[in-house]
Amino acid sequence: MKLKRGKFLGGFNRFRLMLTLGLAVLLPAAALIYINFTELRHFERDKVLEAYIHRDFQEMLAFTEKKIDKKVYTMAEEARDLFPSPDTTPQEKEQKLDQILSKSPWLSHAFLYDEKGLTYRTQPQQMSDKYIREEHEHMPESYRVWFGSEGKTMVEGLHHKTRPIAFSNVAQVKRAEGDAFTTTAVFVLPPVSSERIVFGGVTFEGCYLKQNLFPGVLEEMVNQKSSDQSGNQIAMMIYPANREMGHEIKPIAASSGWGDGKPEVMRKFDDVFGGLALGIKYQGTSVQQLGESWMHRSFLILGILSLLITGGLVLTKHIVSKEMALARLKSDFVSNVSHELRTPLALIRLYAETLELGRITTQEKKQEYYRIIRKESERLTALINNILDFSRIEAGHKEYEFRETDIANLVHNTLDSYRYQIEQQGFAFEEKIDSDLPAVRVDREAIARALVNLVNNALKYSADEKFLGVNLYRENGSVKLEVVDHGIGITRREQSKIFEKFYRTGDPLVHNTKGSGLGLSLVRHITQAHGGEVAVESIPGKGSKFTLSLPLQSANQQASGAVS
Ligand code: ADP
Repeated sequence: MKLKRGKFLGGFNRFRLMLTLGLAVLLPAAALIYINFTELRHFERDKVLEAYIHRDFQEMLAFTEKKIDKKVYTMAEEARDLFPSPDTTPQEKEQKLDQILSKSPWLSHAFLYDEKGLTYRTQPQQMSDKYIREEHEHMPESYRVWFGSEGKTMVEGLHHKTRPIAFSNVAQVKRAEGDAFTTTAVFVLPPVSSERIVFGGVTFEGCYLKQNLFPGVLEEMVNQKSSDQSGNQIAMMIYPANREMGHEIKPIAASSGWGDGKPEVMRKFDDVFGGLALGIKYQGTSVQQLGESWMHRSFLILGILSLLITGGLVLTKHIVSKEMALARLKSDFVSNVSHELRTPLALIRLYAETLELGRITTQEKKQEYYRIIRKESERLTALINNILDFSRIEAGHKEYEFRETDIANLVHNTLDSYRYQIEQQGFAFEEKIDSDLPAVRVDREAIARALVNLVNNALKYSADEKFLGVNLYRENGSVKLEVVDHGIGITRREQSKIFEKFYRTGDPLVHNTKGSGLGLSLVRHITQAHGGEVAVESIPGKGSKFTLSLPLQSANQQASGAVS
């Protein structure tokens, strides 16, 4: 009846535990994980990250364009400041323009247009290139026509600008070393009145732009950028804008590391290099890939977190179950101990009352009753000592008193007081004690208690074959005390548990035998306090062997440590 109720309560507690774990922890954790996963999936890509990068790229392209423009404006202005006055002789004009060209190898042509006509000069060392020669022959005529018809409006327009320079759209030109793009700067000369139709102009050399100016600025920008961002390296390039749609994009100039592929973000030049465009991307990766890898990382982190939460839950359940099992063991312990106390007390009372009544006449019978009373009170004392020791150990108050001891003598004397009881229970008793054992520093009472516990267990847990062996010998620097029985044995699974407090095996004989489940945990504590260890070898149905090892050396150290 009692057992049933206990079982029912245990089941109820477990149910309550599961309910609490489920409602308070498992459900919210699972919901959290689920929501995070679905949210991440719906996100698809990190749009925010992508937009942010694109904006950053746009800014950088705008900045690059400004930088290129500024350079070209400055170069044009430097040339302009050296321009001859329209009122000098034709020879002087040619001379001055030649001077400008020789100072500025990045220009291929320089010209001056005024009322007397057009002076058009070309970089002398470039005249070997037949394409430049062709330009030299054809261009003056088209300028004359252009300035002749548009000159007046152009002059007006230019004088209204804060920087009175205009750039022609880029033109693709041929060169001996391949195609190139050039632009021509046309400007008015500041000292000349705005009433006169006078222009100066310089044409930038396509090869110089392609090989020096563009790559130089791109490289500078890329380096500047990578020095303030830790992550991916960027790359930039310049390409003809009208080739963008559908055509393969072929860079005119690129920073190192461009490789191939499309730009992530592009920007058309709108002032100096109208007709060209700037492109930017990451080296070796794309913003989309970055977004995807961010997603992967997020999933991974979420996965790991989920695993941790699950692990934590499993661990919590494990610990709580263990605590519950311990609580159950404790309540078993209370009822076991009450039983154990009641039986000897009842016996003592019964025999004492019988003696008191004076009904026992034979001396022999009286002796037997006295002996039973003594034996039962000894059992009571042993049990109470065990419990007291245990509570001292639990509270951390247990102290040992180590003294130089003849261990052979201690073991022999302890067994002596049990010899009669052992033999009376029909046990074959074998005692093998080596004679030449050294003195060991031990707490005598504690070692005796450990031995008594082991012997009592051997007696209690033997069924058919009643054998008890106690061996004491020296081996490898320690003294070994063995207690052997041919009893019910212990399964391998339970062998590691029997030293835990309150633990009793599931064997029916154990259930029907009184015990508190404290003995072996005391034995282990005592042995460890001596710097030693206790081990068990056992085969179910065949018997068990418990071995205490007390190291000679460290037992001594332990002793001195405890005394001081
Ligand atoms: P108790 O004997 O009071 O139950 P112990 O701590 O001494 O407590 O032992 C714990 C359990 O280990 C016992 O309940 C029993 O199941 C098992 N055990 C101990 N010694 C033996 C033995 N010699 N043979 C078989 N089982 C044993």
